[in-house]
Amino acid sequence: MDMGRPTAALIDLAALGHNVLQARRFAPHSQVWAVVKANGYGHGLERACRGLAQADGFALVEFDAAQRLRKLEPQRPLLMLEGAFGADDTEFALRHGIRLTVHHLQQVHWLEQSATHQPSDLPLNVKFNSGMNRLGMNQAEMIEAVMRLTRSGFKQLTLMTHFADADVPGGIEVPWQKFNAMHDAVAMATGQRWPTSCSNSAATIDHPQTHGDWVRPGVMMYGATPFTASRGASTLGLRAAMGLYSTLIAVRDLVPGDAVGYGSTFVASKPMRIGVVACGYADGYPRHAPTGTPVLVEGMRCSTVGRVAMDMMMVDLSASPQAQLGSPVELWGAHLAIDEVAACAGTIGYELMCALAPRVAVDEGALR
Ligand SMILES: *Cc1c(COP(=O)(O)O)cnc(C)c1O
Repeated sequence: MDMGRPTAALIDLAALGHNVLQARRFAPHSQVWAVVKANGYGHGLERACRGLAQADGFALVEFDAAQRLRKLEPQRPLLMLEGAFGADDTEFALRHGIRLTVHHLQQVHWLEQSATHQPSDLPLNVKFNSGMNRLGMNQAEMIEAVMRLTRSGFKQLTLMTHFADADVPGGIEVPWQKFNAMHDAVAMATGQRWPTSCSNSAATIDHPQTHGDWVRPGVMMYGATPFTASRGASTLGLRAAMGLYSTLIAVRDLVPGDAVGYGSTFVASKPMRIGVVACGYADGYPRHAPTGTPVLVEGMRCSTVGRVAMDMMMVDLSASPQAQLGSPVELWGAHLAIDEVAACAGTIGYELMCALAPRVAVDEGALR
């Protein structure tokens, strides 16, 4: 029996698996951290990890999520991308074999303190600021961190950075130079070269020289593009893993001069049929999507009219003459790229995925 509001998301675990293999094709000599922060980019943490099981490890930022994952996967490499937020997190990570990113010297201090009563050979990522000025240490701090950590018994260190502009041509030239100069300096100071981890999705796809030992693809795992919508995920051999669906819960005819929705921002200039879709910004659909944003109704490409409301949005049905009450609607998925909808709304696929609302029912299966 069909029951309840028809708005639902589908997560395609096979697509997640495909995208891991695609990341491996791009970076055949590297291990893959599948990034599963933010509830697996909105796909559900445990569900995403099941779909991404062929990755070598999972990278995230939330300690509660890491704790859940560690119970499910006692042996799986887990990496905290923001590292420890305090001494307690440091202890927790050491106890459970969860790798930490070290991006400032206070974190080195917490590790030194822990190691005095609990010697550990936990692998760590030591993070360099290559120009993004978000997280990471400068070259002198990197040398100090690596020397102090090795002295405390942490010998499995990976030098890491994150690029601000890996998605634009020429965007990594200067940061990549800085990273290599830092690596040379650390090698000089410590007498050895270290493993590296530098590539987000964009660098995994476009900058093979940065692949190193571990790549860290996120958004591409979920079948969205790290580039602009004009370089879509399907052209990169990726498969959408999330579909958002609803149905028409009302259909009406407008005459010229009729307005649609809050603020009456759309006014019909000719007779037209519109449908009301049971999906709005409280489901995670972007309120800023303007009139003209694509929506599939009965598989036909239609476009939104008027403002997106909390629970509903309206669609011009001119391109879908068969549409009627109950007609299926795809907001994004296999036939309409989330990146295209995002671009219309002035944002990126990442944000729409993460914003999928808790009230939306989620099923697993092949996208419709
Ligand atoms: C989120 C994140 C990634 C993944 O980035 P994508 O653009 O989604 O591939 C990689 N590394 C770090 C440090 C991150 O925070």
